[in-house]
Amino acid sequence: MSTSFENKILDMKEKKEISLELLSYILSEASEEEKEYLMSTAREIAQSVFGKDIYLRGLIEFTNYCKNDCYYCGIRCSNKNASRYRLTEEEILSCCDKGAELGFQTFVLQGGEDPYYTDDKVCEIVSKIKKAHPDCAVTLSIGEKSYESYKRFYDAGADRYLLRHETANEEHYAMLHPASLSGAHRKQCLRDLKEIGFQVGCGIMIGTPHQTIENIYEDILFMQDLQPHMIGIGPFIAHKDTPFKDQPSGSVETTLLILSILRILFPKVLLPATTALGTADAMGREKGILAGANVLMPNLSPSQVRDKYLLYDGKICTGEEAAECNVCLRARMNKIGYQVADSRGDHPDFTGRM
Ligand code: SAM
Repeated sequence: MSTSFENKILDMKEKKEISLELLSYILSEASEEEKEYLMSTAREIAQSVFGKDIYLRGLIEFTNYCKNDCYYCGIRCSNKNASRYRLTEEEILSCCDKGAELGFQTFVLQGGEDPYYTDDKVCEIVSKIKKAHPDCAVTLSIGEKSYESYKRFYDAGADRYLLRHETANEEHYAMLHPASLSGAHRKQCLRDLKEIGFQVGCGIMIGTPHQTIENIYEDILFMQDLQPHMIGIGPFIAHKDTPFKDQPSGSVETTLLILSILRILFPKVLLPATTALGTADAMGREKGILAGANVLMPNLSPSQVRDKYLLYDGKICTGEEAAECNVCLRARMNKIGYQVADSRGDHPDFTGRM
């Protein structure tokens, strides 16, 4: 490996900046040795901030109804083959109870944009979870809402919000979404969420149709401007009932390289090794951790609905119970020399709610 590559990575680590040229080189020309150097640099940074602790977030996929029609997503409203479900408030609370018994201290309520769950209903669910589990963090991932709605969710006790921006480039955004959705609005939502006080997660899929290296570079610039607390990155995987059904999946290797680059640029950010990464490669989550990720998001949804929240084909862990996923992931982490931390796993700079 040339010392010039090593110096470029050290420079990136010091300045927290990457050029388009270096990004292109890493994604299309770097040697195996250079890629390993990048990943080991990222791994060391993650360990210097988080040790060998991996944070767990229990994911509760509470509705697969969605009013949106994103071209890549299996639960888009036009997919008439999707078998739709909604969890009741009692079912959601019982998922949290089960999660708490298993040691989870963060619950992520994720769903399609489902108007059935009015702001009142969301606030009620959030405050009931916080009442039952005051030491736990509640994360919402329910799409684009108004500033006022986000403020209500925050005041009801929600701590964090995940809203991948999907792509920072408007033209690329328009190739992935119908005209009713805009990248500018999605980015504004992220700024609103941050201003309100949420710990905020943005993110992209790797390998979406028409994505270029320039797009990924723009995504990095957007993230540097936003300074999110969490960044969700996973490969795009086609779903058979979407307009992108014949499109190739995103590359696992590119996903790992981007994870490493993000760890170097954002040493303290919460970086999940996603279920999509685990679906694209049986060892994807382990590889993600070894590339610098530090979060896992096992499924806490009831087993009878798991095979219905299908964003993409072949999703893993749809036949398992929460307890099985918990044991499996803890063992997988131990095997690579890491351990699951029994903590809320806030961003290292988080000092409490305002
Ligand atoms: N409705 C909420 C929202 O818009 O943020 C949360 C649910 S949405 C289905 C969660 C994420 O799934 C999206 O942000 C997208 O990045 C990811 N996703 C959707 N379809 C996917 C696919 N085919 N492959 C990989 N990830 C996908």
